[in-house]
Amino acid sequence: MVRINENYVKLPESYLFSEIARRVAAYKAANPKADVISLGIGDVTRPLTPSVVEALHRAVDEQAVAATFRGYGPEQGYDFLRRTIIEHDFAPRGVKLEADEVFISDGAKSDLGNFGDILGVDNVVALTDPVYPVYVDSNVMGGRAGELTDAGWSRIVYLPCLQERGFIPALPETRPDVIYLCYPNNPTGTTLTRSELKLWVDYALQNGSLILFDAAYEAFITGEDVPHSIYEIEGARKVAVEFRSFSKTAGFTGLRCGCTVVPKELTVKVDGREVSLNKLWNRRQCTKFNGTAYIVQRAAEAIYSPEGRREVRENVDYYMNNAAIIREGFRGHGFEVFGGQDAPYIWLRTPKGFTSWGFFDRMLDECNVVATPGVGFGPSGEGFVRLTAFGERQRVEEAIERIKTKL
Ligand SMILES: *Cc1c(COP(=O)(O)O)cnc(C)c1O
Repeated sequence: MVRINENYVKLPESYLFSEIARRVAAYKAANPKADVISLGIGDVTRPLTPSVVEALHRAVDEQAVAATFRGYGPEQGYDFLRRTIIEHDFAPRGVKLEADEVFISDGAKSDLGNFGDILGVDNVVALTDPVYPVYVDSNVMGGRAGELTDAGWSRIVYLPCLQERGFIPALPETRPDVIYLCYPNNPTGTTLTRSELKLWVDYALQNGSLILFDAAYEAFITGEDVPHSIYEIEGARKVAVEFRSFSKTAGFTGLRCGCTVVPKELTVKVDGREVSLNKLWNRRQCTKFNGTAYIVQRAAEAIYSPEGRREVRENVDYYMNNAAIIREGFRGHGFEVFGGQDAPYIWLRTPKGFTSWGFFDRMLDECNVVATPGVGFGPSGEGFVRLTAFGERQRVEEAIERIKTKL
């Protein structure tokens, strides 16, 4: 008889986005003339930039000619891209990396989900609450979550991110083996300063924990004191893996490219022997992954040309201007708002007496504007909604206008 991985059966249906879609569809059915604007979209709306498109065309032409055709590439990614990433994203921040510490991926989500392949089932995992659901679900699939109870998964250590602490989690009271951190944060849009992140690196060094650091929103940072990479913190190379993505920055959500940094100093003791996570991850990738498409890697490289960098900056500025419009719009209307300064997410406190879903319904009914209920990202998200800055400017302005006149 075929046995399945029964951990998959433990996973509840992902409720959040299907429930949002259901409520929006019901509203539209009852109000066919309503013009609904979403401030909840998690995908970008700006197209690929000219430099990227040009690089794609060039690479396609290379693939069309025997002399320049490329078949299987290195599983870890082409050297030209690994070196370009190091030169532009890490070296200027004083982070020295070698090319074989950077693994090119088809996006951060795959690697964040797959990294558990090389981690034991017995590890205790700590997650912030609210959280990006991929960290939770992939650990359920990997058998590290225990059982689902009213208080969440029995083996997961939850780190509440509360308003009174500026949404910064406190260090755990019980020692976890693996800690997921995402900064700038999705969903709260908040971030950690250098000294705040250092507390976590020091904790991991003292307790022998591994930090899985999701830096997908690094390019949105504006604050001087906010680290772009965890390796800007001394000692982080011994305790942290960093995941990066071109998705939100350069519009690669459909094209698919990112990278994962696994420093060689990152080792774990097995039977008294130091085992390198870099080697294990390399082994895993060589067996289960056949590399990111050549044309996509050329497109990613193009982001780093002088033109490409200017274009990406324009994209990021566009979204961050949206963020400012949303943030100031709600704030000016008497709301408590957080985030939106170093991240394309705004975390909005619901007015007194409104739950996340209650306020979702009110915004939909009265303004025809869609938000994402904060409680959908974890219990500590109750009493908040998440707004995203990925929309088109005119629609964002229209949404804020409705909030001001109708709410
Ligand atoms: C969007 C996002 C990613 C990026 O995912 P890709 O697979 O690279 O598109 C990673 N982490 C978080 C928290 C995100 O919101």
